[in-house]
Amino acid sequence: MTDQRAVIIGAGLAGAQCAIGLREGGWTGPVTLVGAEPHRPYDRPPLSKGVLSGEIEGTEFELDWERLDVELLLGRTATGLAPGELATDAGPVGYDHLVIATGAAAVTLPGAVRALRTVDDSRAIRAELRPGLRLVLVGAGWIGAETATAAKALGCEVTVLEAAAAPLAGALPAELTAPMVRWYAEAGVDLRLGARVAAVEPGAVRLADGTELAADLVVVGIGARPDTRWLAGSGLELDRTGAVLADDRLRTSLPGVWAAGDCVSYPSARSGERITVQHWDHALRSGRAVAAGLLGADQPYDPVPYFWSEQFGRMVQYVGRHRDGDELLWRGSPDQPAWTALWLREGALSAVLTVGSPRDFAQGRRLVEHGTLIDPALAADPAVPLKTAVGAVAAG
Ligand SMILES: Cc1cc2nc3c(=O)[nH]c(=O)nc-3n(C[C@H](O)[C@H](O)[C@H](O)COP(=O)(O)OP(=O)(O)OC[C@H]3O[C@@H](n4cnc5c(N)ncnc54)[C@H](O)[C@@H]3O)c2cc1C
Repeated sequence: MTDQRAVIIGAGLAGAQCAIGLREGGWTGPVTLVGAEPHRPYDRPPLSKGVLSGEIEGTEFELDWERLDVELLLGRTATGLAPGELATDAGPVGYDHLVIATGAAAVTLPGAVRALRTVDDSRAIRAELRPGLRLVLVGAGWIGAETATAAKALGCEVTVLEAAAAPLAGALPAELTAPMVRWYAEAGVDLRLGARVAAVEPGAVRLADGTELAADLVVVGIGARPDTRWLAGSGLELDRTGAVLADDRLRTSLPGVWAAGDCVSYPSARSGERITVQHWDHALRSGRAVAAGLLGADQPYDPVPYFWSEQFGRMVQYVGRHRDGDELLWRGSPDQPAWTALWLREGALSAVLTVGSPRDFAQGRRLVEHGTLIDPALAADPAVPLKTAVGAVAAG
């Protein structure tokens, strides 16, 4: 390729995949990966699962960065951006092409709380978990549920506080989260819905209704925001959440500057709107897509979003993107260990949620990706393989 220098900021999954993609695609110029954390690139999903429960120690990607000829500048934080030059806390770094992959930072609360975003966060929380510890988790989202699972297995007394009326209220409709409320109860986790935190005080959490809960440890899992404050004043366009505004090739508003992973907002033709996705699969694919773009490919980036979560002994997987007005179809009963929910839009599957059902998931994913028309009666019957629940194309 060229001998131009590609600099990637953020040594997480998206940044690492971009660097690998550049080398695998034949990029001959220097490739530099700049990361604020002192660690070599590692995987985050195990941080709220195996690392927290103590089953896994490290999650570093098994890659030989020297052999790949990728320069790692670790423990180095980008502080600003000007044409051709990245400012960092250890001096400027020149670039010909720049990739912003600085991910997201956990939203937190004032007071003595911990968040769970990095391997250091995970190890620090793990070090405190012990039988009888009174753990208060703020937020019944994906990370809250996974943290509750690990802490419970280690013998902690776990209370989860959720301001909304249901867990995962922003992600899933109430019909689907009602069975999940039971998962908390069955695991012996005290889930309190409509519980708004007023203050975290030493040894206690005070709720807006005056309730006080004793807490030895408070962990906050209330979402993450694009980690892009360092771009203020650079002229790069951000949306109101701080996500980098990119086009459908993941190019930003500044020439030669691209973005990938949790920090990017891009127009999805498939979804009919601009989206920001904070999940593993997107970080991997978008990092690769930017590498391909830098190498000259000219393809829009628009995969079907996918994520998974492991909570209370269940594997939960979701693919697609449902929206208000889509028809919700049950396949199996939520009283059973395995069940599936389907969303239909104009006769085709728009999204699939599976609990403990990898076969439905694999088949549903293909149907969503291909926009296949579905026969709702067949699809609702768990005895019929999902892949055969195909509907007829309307005549005319
Ligand atoms: C605990 C946890 C569990 C998860 N579990 C799942 C799961 O089960 N399934 C799923 O689909 N997804 C899961 N995710 C989400 C998934 O891990 C993320 O979507 C993915 O890591 C995003 O990758 P990224 O490279 O965009 O950002 P990150 O992984 O956040 O990497 C960005 C890197 O950039 C660095 N950085 C930030 N600012 C600067 C700067 N100014 N200068 C230099 N470096 C900087 C950060 O320190 C960080 O290392 C989980 C996330 C977490 C935190």
